[in-house]
Amino acid sequence: MKIKAISGYGGKTPACFLVELSGRRFLLDLGEGPEPGVFPDLAGVGPIDAVLVSHSHKDHVGGLHLLGQVGSPPVYSTAMARTIYGGPAFDPSRDLPLHGSVDILGVTVETGLASHAPGGIWMRLGGEDGVLYTGDWTLESAIYRFDPPPQAAVLICDASYGNYEASLADSLPELATEAARGPLLLPMPPAGRGLDAAVILAEAGFEVSICRAHREVATRLIESKAGEVTEEAKQRLYDMLGEAGELTETSIASGVLIAATADAAGGIAQTLASRFSADRSAAIMFTGHLAKGTPGKELVEQDSARFIRWNVHPRASDFRWLVECVRPRAILPAFIGEPGLGEFIAANPGMHFVAGEVELG
Ligand SMILES: [Zn+2]
Repeated sequence: MKIKAISGYGGKTPACFLVELSGRRFLLDLGEGPEPGVFPDLAGVGPIDAVLVSHSHKDHVGGLHLLGQVGSPPVYSTAMARTIYGGPAFDPSRDLPLHGSVDILGVTVETGLASHAPGGIWMRLGGEDGVLYTGDWTLESAIYRFDPPPQAAVLICDASYGNYEASLADSLPELATEAARGPLLLPMPPAGRGLDAAVILAEAGFEVSICRAHREVATRLIESKAGEVTEEAKQRLYDMLGEAGELTETSIASGVLIAATADAAGGIAQTLASRFSADRSAAIMFTGHLAKGTPGKELVEQDSARFIRWNVHPRASDFRWLVECVRPRAILPAFIGEPGLGEFIAANPGMHFVAGEVELG
């Protein structure tokens, strides 16, 4: 078995991992960014038998139009990830279960919920002697479930936050204080932490309004019979939808306003962030990674908006818990650059980290 990070090792770069196993060649994810226009370098990768997708975020699927460079292999994903992302890149597409086992070209692929996005999964290829890829994952979502993963020889693990240890529960009081002070715009991803935020803040008694993109994803999750979220989570989403106002580009600043996109480079958040930063009728708070050149990055740099992290990746202790579950012989820490990567490795003595590639007999 051979594993190589085509991209996703040594920095916050697009996910793309090559796995050679039982005579087959797989790519796990094929993303873009988070910085716009940054794609995995597929030169020299050669023909691929199948691409397996962990979830629908751009840094994991935004490079699927490059499939022609690796022989136009079929793309496997969960039905919900395909629905959320859409686009011709998923054709022809094949189903991955949310939690289950499927045979792909003679290789056993097992999956479980990764709790980070609608229909987001981790995957294990080749059983206990194979590789477990977490995709992006978190243990702190109010809406999405996480299935503890099984053992594997190699672990490719989302380590985006490195040694960061503060819980989402630690940042919520600061966010709630800001929301209590006056109108607050939260640019958020609808297929991610946006629905968590809407549910938590509505349940905390805040007047919440959401944009149409958020309402659409919540409705899809409620109507789905596949089991992306529990019945209890569906009820919480349903209650939130019943209470939340309709946010549009012309909405006035009132309560907590949750709108796509998360970096205010598009969607209703773009218009609202521009208006509110000019007339100061609402505070603006960004909560996730902001790529260079986006309105979000610029507003934070100009002190026209604040940043508070809303956790959607594992804390340092979550990572150590996962390693206890998987008991890997080798770990490829993904999506983290220096100096965080070196500090992360130093903080976990006794673990066998590999630098972007590994071969096990
Ligand atoms: Zn993601």
